[in-house]
Amino acid sequence: MRIFEEMESEVRGYVRSFPVVFDKAEGSELFDENGNRFIDFFAGAGTLNYGHNNPKITEALIEYLQHKGIVHGLDKATMAKREFMTKFRDTILAPRGLQYKMQFTGPTGTNAVETALKLARMIKRRSNVIAFTNGYHGLTMGALGVTGNYFYKDESYGSRANTAFMPFDGFLGEGVDSIEYMRKFLSDPSSGVDLPAAVIVETVQGEGGINVASVEWLKRLEELCREFDILLIIDDIQVGNGRTGTFFSFERAGIHPDMVTLSKSIGGGLPMALLLMRPELDQWSPGEHTGTFRGNNLAFVASTQALSYWDNDDMGKVVEYKGNIIEEELKKMAADFPELEPQVRGVGMVWGLELAAGMANEASQEAFTRGLVMETAGADDQVLKFLPSLLIEEDILREGLQIVRDSLTALVE
Ligand code: PMP
Repeated sequence: MRIFEEMESEVRGYVRSFPVVFDKAEGSELFDENGNRFIDFFAGAGTLNYGHNNPKITEALIEYLQHKGIVHGLDKATMAKREFMTKFRDTILAPRGLQYKMQFTGPTGTNAVETALKLARMIKRRSNVIAFTNGYHGLTMGALGVTGNYFYKDESYGSRANTAFMPFDGFLGEGVDSIEYMRKFLSDPSSGVDLPAAVIVETVQGEGGINVASVEWLKRLEELCREFDILLIIDDIQVGNGRTGTFFSFERAGIHPDMVTLSKSIGGGLPMALLLMRPELDQWSPGEHTGTFRGNNLAFVASTQALSYWDNDDMGKVVEYKGNIIEEELKKMAADFPELEPQVRGVGMVWGLELAAGMANEASQEAFTRGLVMETAGADDQVLKFLPSLLIEEDILREGLQIVRDSLTALVE
Protein backbone atom coordinates (compact mmCIF):
# COMPACT_ATOMS: atom_id res chain seq x y z
CA MET A 1 0.00 0.00 0.00
CA ARG A 2 3.03 2.31 0.36
CA ILE A 3 2.89 3.77 -3.15
CA PHE A 4 -0.64 5.03 -2.45
CA GLU A 5 0.55 6.92 0.63
CA GLU A 6 3.59 8.25 -1.20
CA MET A 7 1.93 9.30 -4.43
CA GLU A 8 -1.78 9.82 -3.93
CA SER A 9 -3.17 13.00 -2.41
CA GLU A 10 -4.31 13.00 1.21
CA VAL A 11 -7.81 13.45 -0.18
CA ARG A 12 -7.97 9.73 -1.01
CA GLY A 13 -10.84 8.07 0.80
CA TYR A 14 -11.66 4.52 -0.17
CA VAL A 15 -7.97 3.55 -0.30
CA ARG A 16 -8.03 4.04 3.45
CA SER A 17 -11.37 2.34 4.10
CA PHE A 18 -10.51 -0.78 2.12
CA PRO A 19 -6.76 -1.25 2.55
CA VAL A 20 -6.09 -3.99 0.00
CA VAL A 21 -5.15 -3.78 -3.65
CA PHE A 22 -8.01 -5.05 -5.77
CA ASP A 23 -7.31 -7.08 -8.84
CA LYS A 24 -10.41 -8.64 -10.39
CA ALA A 25 -14.15 -8.58 -10.09
CA GLU A 26 -17.08 -10.53 -11.43
CA GLY A 27 -20.74 -9.90 -10.74
CA SER A 28 -20.91 -9.08 -7.02
CA GLU A 29 -17.52 -10.45 -6.04
CA LEU A 30 -14.19 -8.65 -5.81
CA PHE A 31 -10.78 -10.29 -5.52
CA ASP A 32 -7.64 -8.66 -4.18
CA GLU A 33 -4.10 -9.24 -5.45
CA ASN A 34 -3.73 -12.19 -3.06
CA GLY A 35 -6.88 -13.82 -4.32
CA ASN A 36 -8.98 -12.96 -1.25
CA ARG A 37 -12.67 -12.72 -2.07
CA PHE A 38 -14.98 -9.88 -1.04
CA ILE A 39 -18.70 -9.53 -1.59
CA ASP A 40 -19.58 -6.11 -2.96
CA PHE A 41 -22.52 -4.33 -1.27
CA PHE A 42 -21.21 -0.98 -2.43
CA ALA A 43 -21.31 -1.47 -6.21
CA GLY A 44 -19.35 1.65 -7.04
CA ALA A 45 -21.84 3.80 -5.10
CA GLY A 46 -24.57 2.73 -7.50
CA THR A 47 -22.47 2.50 -10.67
CA LEU A 48 -22.55 -1.27 -10.93
CA ASN A 49 -26.28 -2.01 -10.91
CA TYR A 50 -25.56 -4.67 -13.54
CA GLY A 51 -22.53 -6.07 -11.70
CA HIS A 52 -18.79 -6.07 -12.35
CA ASN A 53 -17.77 -7.21 -15.82
CA ASN A 54 -21.31 -8.05 -16.79
CA PRO A 55 -20.79 -10.64 -19.58
CA LYS A 56 -23.29 -9.03 -21.99
CA ILE A 57 -21.61 -5.66 -21.59
CA THR A 58 -18.06 -7.01 -21.74
CA GLU A 59 -18.77 -8.99 -24.90
CA ALA A 60 -20.26 -5.98 -26.65
CA LEU A 61 -17.25 -3.85 -25.69
CA ILE A 62 -14.75 -6.43 -26.96
CA GLU A 63 -16.65 -6.78 -30.21
CA TYR A 64 -16.80 -3.00 -30.64
CA LEU A 65 -13.07 -2.60 -30.06
CA GLN A 66 -12.22 -5.47 -32.39
CA HIS A 67 -14.38 -3.84 -35.03
CA LYS A 68 -12.26 -0.69 -34.49
CA GLY A 69 -15.32 1.31 -33.49
CA ILE A 70 -14.81 5.00 -32.68
CA VAL A 71 -13.73 5.35 -29.05
CA HIS A 72 -13.43 9.11 -28.75
CA GLY A 73 -15.83 11.04 -30.93
CA LEU A 74 -16.40 14.42 -29.26
CA ASP A 75 -19.89 15.44 -30.36
CA LYS A 76 -19.69 13.65 -33.68
CA ALA A 77 -22.51 11.37 -34.79
CA THR A 78 -21.41 7.76 -34.34
CA MET A 79 -23.20 4.48 -34.74
CA ALA A 80 -22.71 3.71 -31.06
CA LYS A 81 -24.33 6.99 -30.08
CA ARG A 82 -27.21 6.44 -32.47
CA GLU A 83 -27.84 2.97 -31.07
CA PHE A 84 -27.76 4.26 -27.51
CA MET A 85 -30.19 7.13 -28.18
CA THR A 86 -32.55 4.89 -30.12
CA LYS A 87 -32.49 2.31 -27.33
CA PHE A 88 -33.06 4.94 -24.65
CA ARG A 89 -35.98 6.49 -26.54
CA ASP A 90 -37.65 3.20 -27.43
CA THR A 91 -37.01 1.22 -24.24
CA ILE A 92 -37.04 3.84 -21.50
CA LEU A 93 -38.87 6.99 -22.60
CA ALA A 94 -41.59 5.84 -25.01
CA PRO A 95 -43.16 3.12 -22.81
CA ARG A 96 -43.36 5.64 -19.95
CA GLY A 97 -44.93 8.32 -22.13
CA LEU A 98 -41.97 10.60 -21.41
CA GLN A 99 -40.49 13.07 -23.84
CA TYR A 100 -37.04 14.40 -23.07
CA LYS A 101 -34.11 15.61 -25.10
CA MET A 102 -30.72 14.52 -23.86
CA GLN A 103 -27.49 16.38 -23.40
CA PHE A 104 -24.27 14.49 -22.91
CA THR A 105 -22.31 16.24 -20.23
CA GLY A 106 -18.82 15.49 -18.95
CA PRO A 107 -18.45 11.89 -17.83
CA THR A 108 -19.22 12.21 -14.13
CA GLY A 109 -22.47 12.87 -12.30
CA THR A 110 -21.36 16.26 -11.10
CA ASN A 111 -21.04 17.41 -14.71
CA ALA A 112 -24.71 16.63 -15.33
CA VAL A 113 -25.69 18.54 -12.18
CA GLU A 114 -23.61 21.57 -13.22
CA THR A 115 -25.29 21.52 -16.61
CA ALA A 116 -28.78 21.35 -15.12
CA LEU A 117 -28.13 24.24 -12.73
CA LYS A 118 -26.58 26.41 -15.43
CA LEU A 119 -29.39 25.75 -17.90
CA ALA A 120 -32.12 26.38 -15.31
CA ARG A 121 -30.52 29.69 -14.31
CA MET A 122 -30.14 30.73 -17.92
CA ILE A 123 -33.75 29.91 -18.81
CA LYS A 124 -35.35 31.52 -15.80
CA ARG A 125 -32.89 34.44 -15.58
CA ARG A 126 -32.72 33.81 -11.83
CA SER A 127 -29.68 32.71 -9.86
CA ASN A 128 -31.19 31.18 -6.74
CA VAL A 129 -31.69 27.42 -6.46
CA ILE A 130 -33.44 25.51 -3.69
CA ALA A 131 -31.75 22.39 -2.42
CA PHE A 132 -32.33 20.19 0.62
CA THR A 133 -30.61 19.44 3.86
CA ASN A 134 -28.56 16.25 3.54
CA GLY A 135 -28.73 16.32 -0.27
CA TYR A 136 -25.65 15.36 -2.27
CA HIS A 137 -25.09 16.52 -5.83
CA GLY A 138 -21.31 16.66 -6.23
CA LEU A 139 -18.33 18.68 -5.09
CA THR A 140 -17.45 21.09 -7.89
CA MET A 141 -18.48 24.69 -7.33
CA GLY A 142 -22.04 24.72 -8.68
CA ALA A 143 -22.86 21.23 -7.45
CA LEU A 144 -21.16 21.86 -4.13
CA GLY A 145 -23.41 24.87 -3.70
CA VAL A 146 -26.44 22.57 -3.62
CA THR A 147 -24.81 19.80 -1.57
CA GLY A 148 -26.09 19.97 1.97
CA ASN A 149 -23.27 18.42 3.99
CA TYR A 150 -20.98 21.08 5.44
CA PHE A 151 -18.10 18.63 5.76
CA TYR A 152 -17.38 19.31 2.09
CA LYS A 153 -17.57 23.09 2.35
CA ASP A 154 -15.21 25.80 3.39
CA GLU A 155 -16.11 29.48 3.71
CA SER A 156 -13.35 30.34 1.25
CA TYR A 157 -14.95 28.36 -1.58
CA GLY A 158 -17.74 30.89 -1.89
CA SER A 159 -20.05 28.09 -2.90
CA ARG A 160 -22.88 29.06 -0.59
CA ALA A 161 -24.06 31.89 -2.80
CA ASN A 162 -27.38 31.61 -4.58
CA THR A 163 -28.65 28.58 -2.74
CA ALA A 164 -31.36 28.21 -0.14
CA PHE A 165 -31.57 24.98 1.81
CA MET A 166 -34.93 23.66 2.81
CA PRO A 167 -35.71 20.70 5.04
CA PHE A 168 -36.05 17.38 3.20
CA ASP A 169 -39.19 15.34 3.79
CA GLY A 170 -39.44 14.31 7.42
CA PHE A 171 -36.45 16.34 8.61
CA LEU A 172 -38.52 18.71 10.67
CA GLY A 173 -40.10 15.74 12.39
CA GLU A 174 -43.49 14.13 12.16
CA GLY A 175 -46.40 16.42 11.61
CA VAL A 176 -44.38 19.43 10.41
CA ASP A 177 -45.21 20.26 6.84
CA SER A 178 -42.00 21.26 5.07
CA ILE A 179 -43.78 22.05 1.77
CA GLU A 180 -45.96 24.58 3.57
CA TYR A 181 -42.80 25.95 5.18
CA MET A 182 -41.29 26.46 1.72
CA ARG A 183 -44.49 28.04 0.41
CA LYS A 184 -44.37 30.57 3.25
CA PHE A 185 -40.73 31.42 2.54
CA LEU A 186 -41.35 31.82 -1.18
CA SER A 187 -44.48 33.94 -0.75
CA ASP A 188 -42.97 36.28 1.82
CA PRO A 189 -40.68 38.93 0.29
CA SER A 190 -39.17 39.61 3.70
CA SER A 191 -38.00 35.99 4.09
CA GLY A 192 -34.80 36.77 2.16
CA VAL A 193 -35.34 33.75 -0.11
CA ASP A 194 -35.21 34.94 -3.73
CA LEU A 195 -37.52 33.20 -6.15
CA PRO A 196 -35.40 30.28 -7.37
CA ALA A 197 -34.79 29.12 -10.93
CA ALA A 198 -34.97 25.51 -9.83
CA VAL A 199 -35.41 23.02 -7.07
CA ILE A 200 -32.95 20.12 -7.11
CA VAL A 201 -33.76 16.98 -5.17
CA GLU A 202 -33.04 13.28 -4.86
CA THR A 203 -36.15 11.15 -4.31
CA VAL A 204 -34.01 9.03 -1.99
CA GLN A 205 -31.00 10.78 -0.53
CA GLY A 206 -28.15 8.33 -1.03
CA GLU A 207 -25.05 9.94 0.46
CA GLY A 208 -27.28 11.80 2.92
CA GLY A 209 -28.25 8.59 4.72
CA ILE A 210 -30.89 6.73 2.65
CA ASN A 211 -33.67 9.20 3.38
CA VAL A 212 -36.72 8.24 1.37
CA ALA A 213 -39.04 11.06 0.34
CA SER A 214 -42.68 10.08 0.56
CA VAL A 215 -44.79 9.93 -2.58
CA GLU A 216 -47.07 12.61 -1.17
CA TRP A 217 -44.17 14.97 -0.44
CA LEU A 218 -42.76 14.56 -3.95
CA LYS A 219 -46.16 15.22 -5.52
CA ARG A 220 -46.63 18.34 -3.44
CA LEU A 221 -43.09 19.50 -4.23
CA GLU A 222 -43.94 19.23 -7.92
CA GLU A 223 -47.14 21.24 -7.32
CA LEU A 224 -45.17 23.90 -5.47
CA CYS A 225 -42.74 24.18 -8.39
CA ARG A 226 -45.61 24.63 -10.85
CA GLU A 227 -47.27 27.21 -8.58
CA PHE A 228 -44.14 29.39 -8.43
CA ASP A 229 -42.86 28.70 -11.97
CA ILE A 230 -39.77 26.88 -10.68
CA LEU A 231 -38.03 24.13 -12.64
CA LEU A 232 -37.98 20.74 -10.91
CA ILE A 233 -34.68 18.88 -11.30
CA ILE A 234 -34.61 15.29 -10.10
CA ASP A 235 -31.08 14.08 -9.44
CA ASP A 236 -31.37 10.39 -10.32
CA ILE A 237 -27.64 9.79 -10.45
CA GLN A 238 -27.56 7.34 -7.55
CA VAL A 239 -31.08 5.97 -7.26
CA GLY A 240 -32.11 6.06 -10.93
CA ASN A 241 -31.27 3.21 -13.31
CA GLY A 242 -33.68 0.84 -11.60
CA ARG A 243 -32.34 1.07 -8.08
CA THR A 244 -35.75 1.75 -6.56
CA GLY A 245 -37.54 -0.82 -8.71
CA THR A 246 -38.56 1.42 -11.61
CA PHE A 247 -36.07 2.78 -14.14
CA PHE A 248 -36.50 6.36 -12.90
CA SER A 249 -36.88 6.77 -9.16
CA PHE A 250 -39.57 9.43 -9.58
CA GLU A 251 -41.95 6.98 -11.29
CA ARG A 252 -42.89 5.85 -7.78
CA ALA A 253 -44.46 9.28 -7.21
CA GLY A 254 -45.96 9.71 -10.68
CA ILE A 255 -44.31 13.12 -11.09
CA HIS A 256 -42.87 14.58 -14.28
CA PRO A 257 -39.68 16.54 -13.63
CA ASP A 258 -38.48 19.26 -15.97
CA MET A 259 -34.95 17.92 -15.90
CA VAL A 260 -33.36 14.67 -14.77
CA THR A 261 -29.68 14.03 -14.15
CA LEU A 262 -28.42 10.51 -14.82
CA SER A 263 -24.99 9.00 -14.35
CA LYS A 264 -23.39 6.08 -12.49
CA SER A 265 -25.16 2.93 -13.79
CA ILE A 266 -26.40 4.57 -16.99
CA GLY A 267 -22.94 3.78 -18.43
CA GLY A 268 -23.15 0.10 -17.47
CA GLY A 269 -20.00 0.63 -15.36
CA LEU A 270 -18.25 3.05 -17.72
CA PRO A 271 -18.09 6.82 -17.17
CA MET A 272 -21.16 8.56 -18.55
CA ALA A 273 -23.52 11.30 -17.47
CA LEU A 274 -26.37 13.02 -19.14
CA LEU A 275 -29.08 15.55 -18.61
CA LEU A 276 -32.62 14.90 -19.70
CA MET A 277 -34.68 18.02 -20.29
CA ARG A 278 -38.17 18.72 -21.50
CA PRO A 279 -37.78 19.54 -25.22
CA GLU A 280 -38.82 23.18 -24.78
CA LEU A 281 -36.01 23.67 -22.24
CA ASP A 282 -33.30 22.92 -24.76
CA GLN A 283 -32.49 26.59 -25.16
CA TRP A 284 -28.74 26.27 -25.64
CA SER A 285 -27.06 27.83 -28.65
CA PRO A 286 -24.83 25.38 -30.55
CA GLY A 287 -21.55 24.89 -28.68
CA GLU A 288 -22.61 27.02 -25.71
CA HIS A 289 -22.00 24.29 -23.14
CA THR A 290 -19.55 21.77 -24.45
CA GLY A 291 -16.34 19.94 -23.60
CA THR A 292 -13.97 17.16 -24.64
CA PHE A 293 -15.33 14.03 -22.98
CA ARG A 294 -19.02 14.52 -23.58
CA GLY A 295 -20.44 11.20 -24.64
CA ASN A 296 -17.94 8.38 -24.57
CA ASN A 297 -18.58 5.81 -27.27
CA LEU A 298 -17.49 2.84 -25.16
CA ALA A 299 -20.00 3.96 -22.55
CA PHE A 300 -22.68 4.17 -25.26
CA VAL A 301 -21.94 0.56 -26.22
CA ALA A 302 -22.05 -0.58 -22.59
CA SER A 303 -25.17 1.43 -21.86
CA THR A 304 -27.09 0.05 -24.84
CA GLN A 305 -26.54 -3.42 -23.40
CA ALA A 306 -27.42 -2.32 -19.87
CA LEU A 307 -30.68 -0.78 -21.08
CA SER A 308 -31.69 -4.10 -22.62
CA TYR A 309 -32.42 -5.29 -19.06
CA TRP A 310 -35.41 -2.94 -19.29
CA ASP A 311 -36.89 -4.48 -22.45
CA ASN A 312 -39.59 -5.98 -20.24
CA ASP A 313 -40.66 -5.55 -16.61
CA ASP A 314 -38.57 -8.43 -15.22
CA MET A 315 -36.01 -6.12 -13.61
CA GLY A 316 -38.68 -4.43 -11.53
CA LYS A 317 -39.73 -7.82 -10.17
CA VAL A 318 -36.12 -8.79 -9.46
CA VAL A 319 -35.55 -5.58 -7.51
CA GLU A 320 -38.75 -6.08 -5.54
CA TYR A 321 -37.86 -9.69 -4.68
CA LYS A 322 -34.29 -8.97 -3.52
CA GLY A 323 -35.30 -5.71 -1.92
CA ASN A 324 -37.76 -7.66 0.24
CA ILE A 325 -34.98 -10.02 1.34
CA ILE A 326 -32.81 -7.07 2.39
CA GLU A 327 -35.68 -5.36 4.19
CA GLU A 328 -36.69 -8.52 6.03
CA GLU A 329 -33.14 -9.30 7.18
CA LEU A 330 -32.46 -5.71 8.25
CA LYS A 331 -35.67 -5.60 10.26
CA LYS A 332 -34.68 -8.81 12.01
CA MET A 333 -31.26 -7.34 12.80
CA ALA A 334 -32.89 -4.16 14.08
CA ALA A 335 -35.00 -6.27 16.45
CA ASP A 336 -32.02 -8.38 17.57
CA PHE A 337 -29.57 -5.54 18.33
CA PRO A 338 -31.57 -2.89 20.21
CA GLU A 339 -28.40 -1.74 22.00
CA LEU A 340 -27.16 -0.36 18.64
CA GLU A 341 -30.32 1.80 18.35
CA PRO A 342 -30.96 0.60 14.80
CA GLN A 343 -33.31 2.23 12.31
CA VAL A 344 -34.08 0.70 8.93
CA ARG A 345 -34.92 2.79 5.86
CA GLY A 346 -35.10 2.14 2.16
CA VAL A 347 -36.99 1.22 -0.97
CA GLY A 348 -36.26 -1.19 -3.82
CA MET A 349 -32.61 -2.19 -3.49
CA VAL A 350 -31.29 0.86 -1.67
CA TRP A 351 -31.34 0.38 2.09
CA GLY A 352 -29.80 1.96 5.13
CA LEU A 353 -29.28 0.71 8.66
CA GLU A 354 -28.74 3.65 10.96
CA LEU A 355 -26.78 2.78 14.10
CA ALA A 356 -25.74 4.55 17.28
CA ALA A 357 -22.86 7.06 16.97
CA GLY A 358 -19.70 5.59 15.45
CA MET A 359 -21.16 2.10 15.12
CA ALA A 360 -21.87 2.13 11.37
CA ASN A 361 -18.20 2.84 10.63
CA GLU A 362 -17.11 0.13 13.01
CA ALA A 363 -19.58 -2.30 11.47
CA SER A 364 -18.33 -1.56 7.96
CA GLN A 365 -14.70 -2.10 9.07
CA GLU A 366 -15.67 -5.31 10.84
CA ALA A 367 -17.55 -6.46 7.72
CA PHE A 368 -14.50 -5.75 5.59
CA THR A 369 -12.34 -8.06 7.68
CA ARG A 370 -15.02 -10.71 7.09
CA GLY A 371 -15.02 -10.24 3.32
CA LEU A 372 -17.75 -7.68 2.67
CA VAL A 373 -17.26 -4.26 1.11
CA MET A 374 -19.82 -1.68 2.14
CA GLU A 375 -19.97 2.07 2.58
CA THR A 376 -21.48 4.30 5.22
CA ALA A 377 -23.72 7.29 4.51
CA GLY A 378 -25.18 10.25 6.38
CA ALA A 379 -23.66 13.48 7.69
CA ASP A 380 -22.06 11.59 10.59
CA ASP A 381 -21.46 8.33 8.74
CA GLN A 382 -24.18 6.92 10.94
CA VAL A 383 -25.83 4.74 8.30
CA LEU A 384 -24.64 1.42 6.88
CA LYS A 385 -25.51 1.48 3.23
CA PHE A 386 -26.82 -1.53 1.28
CA LEU A 387 -26.44 -0.96 -2.44
CA PRO A 388 -25.59 -4.28 -4.08
CA SER A 389 -25.78 -4.93 -7.80
CA LEU A 390 -29.39 -5.44 -8.89
CA LEU A 391 -28.23 -8.72 -10.41
CA ILE A 392 -26.59 -10.08 -7.26
CA GLU A 393 -27.21 -13.81 -6.84
CA GLU A 394 -29.61 -14.58 -3.99
CA ASP A 395 -27.11 -16.81 -2.16
CA ILE A 396 -24.40 -14.11 -2.29
CA LEU A 397 -26.90 -11.52 -1.11
CA ARG A 398 -27.84 -13.72 1.86
CA GLU A 399 -24.16 -14.48 2.57
CA GLY A 400 -23.40 -10.75 2.66
CA LEU A 401 -26.35 -10.07 4.97
CA GLN A 402 -25.11 -12.82 7.28
CA ILE A 403 -21.70 -11.09 7.39
CA VAL A 404 -23.44 -7.89 8.46
CA ARG A 405 -25.25 -9.80 11.22
CA ASP A 406 -21.98 -11.42 12.34
CA SER A 407 -20.28 -8.01 12.34
CA LEU A 408 -23.03 -6.52 14.54
CA THR A 409 -22.72 -9.49 16.88
CA ALA A 410 -18.98 -8.84 17.13
CA LEU A 411 -19.65 -5.15 17.94
CA VAL A 412 -21.97 -5.87 20.86
CA GLU A 413 -19.92 -8.70 22.36
N1 PMP B 1 -25.69 13.28 -7.35
C1 PMP B 1 -25.90 12.21 -6.59
C2 PMP B 1 -27.28 11.91 -6.11
C3 PMP B 1 -24.82 11.37 -6.24
O1 PMP B 1 -25.04 10.32 -5.44
C4 PMP B 1 -23.55 11.67 -6.73
C5 PMP B 1 -22.35 10.80 -6.40
N2 PMP B 1 -22.38 10.11 -5.23
C6 PMP B 1 -23.38 12.80 -7.54
C7 PMP B 1 -24.48 13.58 -7.83
C8 PMP B 1 -22.05 13.16 -8.09
O2 PMP B 1 -21.65 12.25 -9.05
P1 PMP B 1 -20.11 12.04 -9.37
O3 PMP B 1 -19.45 11.58 -8.12
O4 PMP B 1 -20.12 10.99 -10.44
O5 PMP B 1 -19.60 13.32 -9.88
